[in-house]
Amino acid sequence: VSAKRLDGKAVAQERREALAERVRLCAQRSRPPALAVVTATEDDAALAYLRSKARLGEKLGIRVEQITIPSPTTESLRRRVIELGNDPSFDGILIETPVAEGIELRALQSAVVPEKDVDGAGSVALGRLFEGRPTFVPATAAAVMALLDAYEISIDRRDTVVVGRSLTVGRPLAQLLLARGATVTVCHSHTADLAAHTRSAELLCVAVGRARFVTAEMVRPGAVVIDVGTNPVDGGLVGDVDEDAASVASALSPVPGGVGPLTTLLLLENVVRAAEGSAG
Ligand code: NAP
Repeated sequence: VSAKRLDGKAVAQERREALAERVRLCAQRSRPPALAVVTATEDDAALAYLRSKARLGEKLGIRVEQITIPSPTTESLRRRVIELGNDPSFDGILIETPVAEGIELRALQSAVVPEKDVDGAGSVALGRLFEGRPTFVPATAAAVMALLDAYEISIDRRDTVVVGRSLTVGRPLAQLLLARGATVTVCHSHTADLAAHTRSAELLCVAVGRARFVTAEMVRPGAVVIDVGTNPVDGGLVGDVDEDAASVASALSPVPGGVGPLTTLLLLENVVRAAEGSAG
């Protein structure tokens, strides 16, 4: 038996036309939605993420602009982020990660005004998510939920394990799952006997950042497995879950082609919501 493939690329494709229509309405009413992506790095992965946003933005009619400053420091970047908050030509602002060493990411994320925090990374957005009345949900966590919903995978009452507790993925995802009635265990690098936890999960979400970290033996037979990891290996991308898990799981999201493409689309959906002024 091989697990059903949860095709995030196809789900993203299905949502695209509706979003393009909203973009057209924004453009008619005022101007096309616009996202400022602040980059403070030469990191290949960060620049690749930026390009993928820019490419999809271009197809949809959303302006995605890279913002850099010469010799960036935390303070000079923070000032730039505050200026962007007051700049009416941008609806959304995000800080591309990873940032260069020595730059304090949280200081920049906290400087984004809540109305433009389309990455859901600031304290207001995270607090609202925690309260169960989210404004902008971090796109990766939202992408996992959208993928589950697109395949009508039930969440309520499910024994669920999230591996990873980052502020960008693991924690927001755990909150979203909890709000939908899952019983959630969050595992991390200090978890004793990780495999015992993962093997108990009906729904297993993995966001660790280590290639093929979760092996088939760590998966409960029939589980639904969502692989958030994207690890560059030999010029390609592999997930945090070994391909062999497909022989044990009932459903598995592939890397690439699973959570990734949906993440980019949902981020741009947040930009359009910001432009419409329709966020919480
Ligand atoms: P991160 O900030 O590095 O967090 C990794 C998490 O994994 C941490 O909570 C860490 O635990 C945990 N971890 C590390 N080693 C572990 C181990 N041996 N056992 C158990 N847990 C362990 O990474 P992230 O930003 O959450 O991203 C995770 C992965 O998702 C990466 O591959 C990233 O590229 C990918 N990602 C994909 C998308 C997408 O669109 N598909 C978007 C964002 C991220 P501690 O907290 O204890 O250190």
